[in-house]
Parts: sequence; C-alpha cells; structure tokens
Amino acid sequence: MKVLFLGSGTSTGVPVIGCRCAVCTSLNPRNKRLRASVLVQSETTAILVDSCPDLRQQALRHNLTAIDAVIYTHEHLDHTAGFDDMRAFCWHRTERLPLYAGTSCLAHLRRMFAWAFSEKNTYQGYIRPHAHDHEGRPFVIGDIEVTPVKVEHATVETYGYVFRHAGRSFGYVPDIKVLPECSRPLLQGLDVLAMDGLTTKEHHTHLSVAQNAELMQLLAPARGFITHCGHSVDYDEARRMLPSFMAPAYDGLEVQI
Ligand SMILES: [Zn+2]
Ligand SMILES: [Zn+2]
Ligand SMILES: [Zn+2]
Repeated sequence: MKVLFLGSGTSTGVPVIGCRCAVCTSLNPRNKRLRASVLVQSETTAILVDSCPDLRQQALRHNLTAIDAVIYTHEHLDHTAGFDDMRAFCWHRTERLPLYAGTSCLAHLRRMFAWAFSEKNTYQGYIRPHAHDHEGRPFVIGDIEVTPVKVEHATVETYGYVFRHAGRSFGYVPDIKVLPECSRPLLQGLDVLAMDGLTTKEHHTHLSVAQNAELMQLLAPARGFITHCGHSVDYDEARRMLPSFMAPAYDGLEVQI
C-alpha cells in the first residue's frame, strides 16, 4: 500500500492570505501546505480521501487522472469544496463514481451538489456519484478494506479511516479534537497513523501538535505523522520536538506501507 499526501494544511492553507508570519514567509517548501487530502493506493486501487478546494492543483501536480472511489471524513468545506474538480476523473468513466461518507456528510453533499446526485444527471462526463452511507461500518473498495473511526471534531459528525491491504494498515484522521474510548482500539498499533496537529497552542476543535504526540504515543503506530497543520507549525521545529517515530507530513510526501 502507498499513501500520497496531496495536501497537509488546514482550512486556510499555508501561507495564509495576507499573513507575514515566519512560517507564511518561510522559504522552506515543507511549510507550503495545500488543504488536507490523501490518495491511498494498492497496485490496482486508488482511493481519494476528501475533495478539498485545492484538488485541481493537486491532481495537476501529481498527474492524478483517475480514482476508483472517493471517501469523505466530514462536511467542512476544506474537505468537500473541490467536488466539482472530480469531473476530470469521470470523463472516461462509464460507471458511476463510488462515493462513501457518513450520514451527515452525505446529506450535506446531496444538498450542496444537488445536480450531481439528481436523477436527471445522466450526462456521462459529469460526476455521477454512486453514493454509500457507510453508517460507521467497514466496507471494501477493490483490494483495500476501509474501517470508519468515529471521532469528535467541532459540532459535525466526523470520521477518520483505517485502510488495510496485504496485512498492512494506515490510519488517517485529519480533523479530531477527542478520540472516543470506543474508537481507540481501531487506531491502536497501526503500521502508519497520520493525525490532526493543527497548532502549537491548544485549539477548541483540533488537536495541537503536543496533544497529537501524546495521543500518538498511547496508540503506538510504527510511524506517526501530524497533518492538517496551520501556520503556527514550522516544519523543522515540529520535527525536532516530535518523538523519533513521528514527523510532520508535507505536501507530496509518499509513504510506502
Ligand atoms: Zn502566517
Ligand atoms: Zn473540519
Ligand atoms: Zn479540516
């Protein structure tokens, strides 16, 4: 299994428009962050997680021309607003595009992109989703098993996901404030885990870098990454303060699992 970080930034991206702080003006390319999204791939299956507002740029940058399915973590706009750019993955498809989300996020997508979900949408070149409400239950896409992991984040229903293929596991939780007890075993002891590390200070809807590191040590993956980072997080500084099995993710990072 292979994971490509298409974007490692929070909702504003980094640099933040109009900001002159040290990270926003940094010349380190690892401090340039598009909105958070990953591509999870086996040899035969490619899954896009979230359609962020930077999807067009991410697809061009990585020559991403086809996906087998899209999965959504939650309905916030930094995870959904690039929906329309998925047209590029549908021009050559005859089948509908498999789309997986929780109940609340799916309702939001149906409202926001009503024309795509409409019965009247028969144009092959447009996104015709085959929508699945996973209701928190595991499902399979191609040769990758996917397990939703319910987490607490802001006031919206939010999921992380664990992907399993050929005995390997990858957990992805870009937006989280609290990991409920019942979800904890699902994230325990994975090969790779990438989780929200928004800020250097405490935040009311996201984990800080230090809180991420604390939780990560309890969950004990072989390798851990922080992602969905904002402009208070400097790549080099965060790397120095994190335990040795951890690192900040960055745009374009590819992890073989
Ligand atoms: Zn800044
Ligand atoms: Zn969010
Ligand atoms: Zn977000």
